[in-house]
Amino acid sequence: MRKPFIAGNWKMHNGIRETKEFFARFLGMYLDSSEVDVAIAPVFTAIEAAKNACKGRRVYIGAQNMHMEDKGAFTGEIAPGMLKELDVDFVILGHSERRHIFGETNNTIALKLKKAVLEGLLPIFCVGETLQERENEKTETILREQLDTAFNNLDAKEVSRVIVAYEPVWAIGTGETATPRIAGDAHIFIRNRIKELYNAVAAEDMRILYGGSVKPANARELLSVPDIDGALIGGASLQPDSFAEIIKISLEG
Ligand code: PEP
Repeated sequence: MRKPFIAGNWKMHNGIRETKEFFARFLGMYLDSSEVDVAIAPVFTAIEAAKNACKGRRVYIGAQNMHMEDKGAFTGEIAPGMLKELDVDFVILGHSERRHIFGETNNTIALKLKKAVLEGLLPIFCVGETLQERENEKTETILREQLDTAFNNLDAKEVSRVIVAYEPVWAIGTGETATPRIAGDAHIFIRNRIKELYNAVAAEDMRILYGGSVKPANARELLSVPDIDGALIGGASLQPDSFAEIIKISLEG
């Protein structure tokens, strides 16, 4: 049984003050449960405030990105060791905004993924096709390229320390959600590819999250799909009540 993983990606929202306000409200609504993993990735500057707010509670705090080197002349970047100093629990890698706005390639993401695993940071590794790629029936080709490049350097033990998030680019921040059928098919494709690259146990154990305009109104139908093991949530994770509601829904199944 794969435990649901419900993660919020705050993108460039919520500074320190807003982070404190969010947790003051959210932690009043959210009942800690060992049946679900709950996670939030604030902006770098608010990580410490989030960690402090969640002391003693079952909420993982992570980062939205990191560099693959330990230090050096990389203006504006952050090293894995620096995140570990803040005691972060996970890191989102390969988000479509990193790929499409900041030009991250499959190869760069593969290096980051390997580094995160070696450093003991749990990566949430994002894959997904653009609208054009889907319309041109390239979805599986794109997913295969993203997965194969990223996993090229990871053995079966290392891949067991990765979470995959399927996030169709056309559904991120657009209000348009993949149907349970579309999302389910992509998740099955990803799980099968992991089986081909590694083995049946690695595929069975891998948690694969869906991301793309998840909100309380559509969470139930998405999270009830057998191969969808949780959600990576942008917009709806900024509101304590909608994030708490999605967590509650994830516990129904
Ligand atoms: C995301 O940022 O990963 C995301 C899925 O955003 P949204 O839920 O707003 O579509």
